[in-house]
Parts: sequence; structure tokens; C-alpha cells
Amino acid sequence: MTTRHDILKKYFGFDEFRTPQLEIIQSVLEGKDTMALLPTGGGKSLCFQVPALMQEGICVVVSPLIALMKDQVFHLKRREVKAAAVFSGLTYHEIDMILDNCQFGYYKFLFVSPERLKTDIFIERFKQMNVCLIAVDEAHCVSQWGYDFRPPYLEIAEIRQFHPKVPVLALTASATPAVQEDIVDKLKFRKGYAVFKKSFIRDNLSFVVRKEEAKYPKLLEIIQKLNGSGIIYVRNRNKTKDVAEYLQKNKIKADFYHAGLSTRERSLKQDNWLQNKKPVMVCTNAFGMGIDKPDVRFVIHLDVPENLESYYQEAGRAGRDGRLSYAVLFYTQSDLDNLGEKLKQKFPPVEAIKKVYNSLGNYLGVAVESGNRMTYPFDMAHFSHSFKLESALVYNCLKILEQENYLQLSEGVLMPSRAIFRVDKLALYRFEVANAAYAPLIKSLLRTYGGIIDHYAKVSEKELAKLAKLDEKEVVKQLKHLHKNKVLTYIPSSDQPTITLLTERMHESNLYLNTQYIRQRKKVNEEQMEAMLNYVEQSTDCRQVLICSYFGEKKVVPCGKCDICLENRRKLEQDTNFSQAKKELLEKTDNDWIKVDDLLPQNAHFAAALYKEVIRFLLDEKLVVMNDQNELKRV
Ligand code: ADP
Ligand code: MG
Repeated sequence: MTTRHDILKKYFGFDEFRTPQLEIIQSVLEGKDTMALLPTGGGKSLCFQVPALMQEGICVVVSPLIALMKDQVFHLKRREVKAAAVFSGLTYHEIDMILDNCQFGYYKFLFVSPERLKTDIFIERFKQMNVCLIAVDEAHCVSQWGYDFRPPYLEIAEIRQFHPKVPVLALTASATPAVQEDIVDKLKFRKGYAVFKKSFIRDNLSFVVRKEEAKYPKLLEIIQKLNGSGIIYVRNRNKTKDVAEYLQKNKIKADFYHAGLSTRERSLKQDNWLQNKKPVMVCTNAFGMGIDKPDVRFVIHLDVPENLESYYQEAGRAGRDGRLSYAVLFYTQSDLDNLGEKLKQKFPPVEAIKKVYNSLGNYLGVAVESGNRMTYPFDMAHFSHSFKLESALVYNCLKILEQENYLQLSEGVLMPSRAIFRVDKLALYRFEVANAAYAPLIKSLLRTYGGIIDHYAKVSEKELAKLAKLDEKEVVKQLKHLHKNKVLTYIPSSDQPTITLLTERMHESNLYLNTQYIRQRKKVNEEQMEAMLNYVEQSTDCRQVLICSYFGEKKVVPCGKCDICLENRRKLEQDTNFSQAKKELLEKTDNDWIKVDDLLPQNAHFAAALYKEVIRFLLDEKLVVMNDQNELKRV
């Protein structure tokens, strides 16, 4: 049998495992259900890849995001490992072929979205596969206590019955104690399961929080001072471009990135960043997942994230190479207020949900008591517009209806078609004059999507067809023509935007919503927001200590690097007792090694604590050194 080190070298080119990869692999090979809690970048993928490559059979990996699956498949294929992914954008025939090949042992890894697990076509084939391991990536998604709860993740336990002996490996970078318990419970971990956890402490990161009204100049100042590569996170897509332009004007090599750009643009931008051609990236949270750049010197947040889980994950992309790096968060009072407002919107009142449900039925033309398991093309913008509903409200209501298992949205609904003009107003006018047939469409685009000259706008082909009095096919044809002639960039949606009803349409009064559960979800979200607010607003505790204790890690010592530790130290240094003790200790250690115990004042508890504090300070500042006999000497 090939050893795990052979596999590591042969497929991945590494010489050593990181802790605790080896222990996790061992546990999986012993057939135990295993939970791996490793920070982002800790190397979770190897924990399922290595044991799978050592054994016969296929490893099924459940993963929440198509982008994540594609990325993993890409990397495995490059290493000549047979891997495939099955997700909602593929045709029935494509899926059928992939599953066929899994059954006959062609693939070593199969990545599936959790939604797939409950489909008959998957289950029938899965039963026939020779499975060696079920890996659950981003396993916090099983938990309603997690920030990213995905109800279909609960289906994972259901498929275990078909391969009861196969171990499950759950991987996550963010699990508070409540989430950990939930993972064990919801994935039906068998007795004797094992949990491995790597400390979340990042001792080369300096965490800083600043209340700041004029964020841009302050941002510029920090970037100029720190120099090097960095990531700047903002909340919305248009802002990524604004900030990048501001920085460019100030001679910073910056670029912007968000999920609305085409795949080609995104990978181009990502490469330029990785190669330090454009070392500063301004982006939404769509950037960063699966990226591993060692020399990121700073991660700056211009907006406050919804929870500490996401914040720590994003900030943690700084300083992978172990060198001192900065995680800075800017905020204003209104940012904090908006956070609460957003959360309220995320959980609309029951009446609103019912109204959206009912309007949807009418929009799709489904009669009451029919429509079960039917899939319809669905254009969210057009729907909102037709029923005069606010689009954010529609989105949030549909999300809840999806969680309640009434319907399912395809990725295309959330990622509709986008467009942006490539030419200025004058050139556009000339084009219109020369190509009169395109005038109605161009006018409709300009009229409907305000910022489309400067920013990517989500466009609805259906809506445009109505406004321009064209048929939808003609709109698509014209958009493609404009794209080809470089008048605009048109990115059609990732897949057909569809909505699938999972039950027959009900009369509004029969629509059952688990309000208790919705209320509980809301509460979880509120608690997470509170933790985030506390992190931002408090001014006494070390930020690293605060974060780690949120993730259930006790006994973390203050980092000495965050804004709060530095402030505490400054105060301490101003303290006369402190300077007195410092002077005394430096004198005593000036000539020879001297035991720490002999340096502390006897019978004075309070004073001893102060001296210990000063000794820690002197060590941190490298003014004294300690040997392994606990003796100190001045440097
Ligand atoms: P995670 O999923 O925990 O965020 P990944 O599995 O994506 O982390 O791994 C992060 C990076 O670390 C990858 O580039 C991977 O190749 C690298 N890596 C993982 N294990 C090792 C190892 N033992 N030695 C060197 N590099 C490793
Ligand atoms: Mg990962």
C-alpha cells in the first residue's frame, strides 16, 4: 500500500503534513466519523484527498458552492486525479453520464451540491457506487446555529443509510461550540467519533478597529504606509470600482472584483493580483474563497460584516507566510445601525411572505392545488416589477420559502444576466444613429438601468423586451450583437433562471410557515450580529482573545499587537509604578542571569503581578532574554 507520505509527495508535491492533518487522515482510515476544525488555509482538502487516494473506491464530497466545486475539480484534474462535479447547471444527460462513470469506478472524487442528494437519479446511482469516504466541506452549513445554514445539508445524514459503514469527514473553518454539537448530531456521527481542532490563534496578525467618517483618505494612508499586497472588502459591487478608482488616482496599483463580472475577467483580475501586478484588490466577499496567497500584508474592511465568522475568515487571508500583517476594520455609527436594519429585512413579516407566495403563483400561472415538482423559467426582476414589490423584499421572502421547502431557486435567479456599456455617450449616440434598429433597446437599457454606463447592471431580457417592444429572442440577439461590436459587455446568466415548486400551490390560508423556527433563525442572526457589534465597540479586551473565545477557545493570552493591547501597554508605560519596576528590573539583569523568582518582590501579591507584567513587556520588546532555566538577562 502506498503510504500517506508517498501520496502527499506524488500528487501534491509536499514533504510534510501540517498538524493535525496526519491525525485526521489516520482517524478516517480507521473508519471513524471525524470532525476537522481548521482555520481557513489550514489545509482541510488534503484531509479527505489523501485517505481517498490511499483506498479503493470513490470519495463523495458535499460542497455548498458551485465555484468551490469547480475549483477543486480543476486542481485535482491538474494533478491527474479523476474528479467530477454535479450541480444544477448541468443537463440531465450530463449528470447521467457523470454518475454512470462514478458507478463504474472511473472517478476518484465526486463533488455534489447538497440539493443533489435528495434527487432520485443521484440516490439510485449512489447506492451502486463503491464509496470509501463521504466528505462534508463547509460543514457548519448543517447547523441552524451557523451563519450559513443550508437546509439541504440535512439530507446528508439520509444518504448514510445506503453505505452505513462509510465514515463521514466533516470539515469547517468556523465552528462555535453550538455548531460543533450540531454537526455531530445532524450528520449522525457514530459512537467513537473523533474531533480534531487546530487553534484559531493567528499570532502574526494585528487586529485594528477604527471609527472613521473619512474612510477613503484613511485607507489610502494605511496602504501607503504598509506597502505590499492587500485585500479591501466592501459590501456592494459598485463600491468596489469606486474605491479601486480612488486608489488608482492616488498611484496605488489597485483593481476591483465581484461576482457580477464574467468568469474570464475574474480570473484575469485574480491572476494579476496573485502575481502582484495589481497587488491591491478591492472586492466583495465573492473574492478570496480557495485563494492562497502567502504575502498578503493587510486585509481592510470598509464595511462591517454581518458576523465574526465571516470577518475572521476574510481577515485571516492576511499573513499566511507568518510575517506581521494587519487586519483593519473601519466603521461609522450609521454602519452599525444599518446592520440591524438589514437583519430586520432578512426576516420579513409572515403577511409579506404569504403575499409574495400568492403573487408568485399568479405570475407563474399555476392553479391552486397544482404545480407540484414543476419547474418554470423565472425572472425575479420582472416578477418584482410586475407586482410592484420591492426586489429586496421579494428576494428575502423567496429565500424563506426555499428554506421552508416550498420551492427551489436555480443559481441563475441569484446571478442574472449583466451588462455594461463600453463606449461613451457620444459614441453610443453615433452608433444609434447609424443602426436605428438598435435604438429602442439602447434607450431602454439607459432608461431602466441608471448606472449602466459606469457599472455592471443586472438586466432582465424579459423586461427589456417589453420596454423596447421587441420579442425576447430578438433582445438576446441584439445584446449579443452589441457585445460582439464592443458597444457593451453582455454576460448572460450562469444557468437558466428557474424556480421549481416543491409542493402543489396552496391557498394562501393553508400556507404553513414554521414561524417558531423562523423566529429562532432570526435570534441566531441577532446574536451573531451582537457579537460582531461587541467586537467593534468594546475597548477593553484583546481582539484576538475575544475572537478565539467566541470560537470556544479558552486560555488565549493577549496578543500584544492589536489596537487594544497596544493602547493598554501605552497606558501601562505611563504608569509611574510601571516605569519604576522597569528601571529596577533592567538594572538587576544587567550583568548576569538571574532567576525570575528572585526578581519578584516577596510577600506582595499585587506588586508581583505588576513585575510579571513588566517582565512580559521586556521580553516582548526584546530588552531581556530568558533561558530554559527561567533566568533573565539584559540584551
Ligand atoms: P482550507 O480548505 O483549510 O482553507 P486548503 O485545503 O484549501 O485549506 O489548503 C490551503 C493551502 O495549503 C493549499 O494551497 C494547499 O495546497 C496548502 N497545503 C495544504 N496542506 C499542505 C501541506 N501539508 N504542506 C504544504 N502546503 C499545504
Ligand atoms: Mg477548503
